[in-house]
Amino acid sequence: MKPPKPSFEWIITDRCNYDCTYCFQRVYADKRHCSDATVEAVFRLLPTLEGGWLVKLIGGEPLIHPRFFEMCSRIVAAGHRLCTTTNFSLPLPKLLQLLDVCDGRLDTITASLHLHEVRDLDVFIDKVTKFQAVKPAKTTFVVTAVMVAEDFDALKDVSERLTAAGVRFRFQVLRVNNRYVQYDQEIEEYIAGKLLENVSQIRDRSLFGTMCHTGHLFFKIDVNGDVVRCFNLQPNYFLGNITAGTLQRFEGPQPCLARRCTCTVAANRHMILFGQEAAKPALVRSYLGAWSGSVPYASAKVYRVITGWLSRTR
Ligand code: SF4
Ligand code: SF4
Repeated sequence: MKPPKPSFEWIITDRCNYDCTYCFQRVYADKRHCSDATVEAVFRLLPTLEGGWLVKLIGGEPLIHPRFFEMCSRIVAAGHRLCTTTNFSLPLPKLLQLLDVCDGRLDTITASLHLHEVRDLDVFIDKVTKFQAVKPAKTTFVVTAVMVAEDFDALKDVSERLTAAGVRFRFQVLRVNNRYVQYDQEIEEYIAGKLLENVSQIRDRSLFGTMCHTGHLFFKIDVNGDVVRCFNLQPNYFLGNITAGTLQRFEGPQPCLARRCTCTVAANRHMILFGQEAAKPALVRSYLGAWSGSVPYASAKVYRVITGWLSRTR
């Protein structure tokens, strides 16, 4: 088993210049950038993380945060490597600025293609191939698209054009109600081998009770400074709020308490100790103990989603 790669994901904004139908952030009414207080709190955290972490900036569209490039330079100056996912909609010079700011420490950039939001597919492909030509060899560049069955032919065409141009292209499986959908046989056969790494390991799997480093060597910072263990709600999910100074990471791996795992990122960073189950008594203790911190967090989250949904349907 490969050693875990310590990393955290930071949602720096809920805002986006696109409006994809399948975007799970569409339900939030109060879309916002993370505050200066949260930015400063994360800046204070950076030098305390030992050994060079991988820090991923995500959104919404992270590049529209007014302090995006400052964040990048502070992360690399603290000895960490950077990773980001963007819809690649900004002009090429802005995207190239990212390479300059990271000064060789940009680990991975993922360009998400959202077919219905891209005004001119040829322009998108041209920008992607130009970026590919100048990026440092050590920077992984991958274009991804969520497979939507009715767009199969168009996505297949993009996949083939980008692959022919030497650009790595991967599909993501659509999730509905936090479950991966099942496509028809033709699509399943086409996307097999073209999925983001490790999706097949966790697709529709429950890892309840499996030991996992998330919460210790991996966590996610929400736009309001809340820090959570991974992407799947569970009793031991909430680790505190970094802006309020209450963040407490686990001291080692803990059992997974989620009904199912959809965390491809955690799987890719080798956080999940597949096959290593927690002993029953420890699992029960962990399950009961974890509820106390999570109930207020889960209630606030549910409230935010419901009010967001109501405001959109008015
Ligand atoms: S580009 Fe990403 S964040 Fe923006 S609307 Fe689409 S799915 Fe959501
Ligand atoms: S849901 Fe996945 S990443 Fe999260 S704790 Fe469980 S196994 Fe780990």
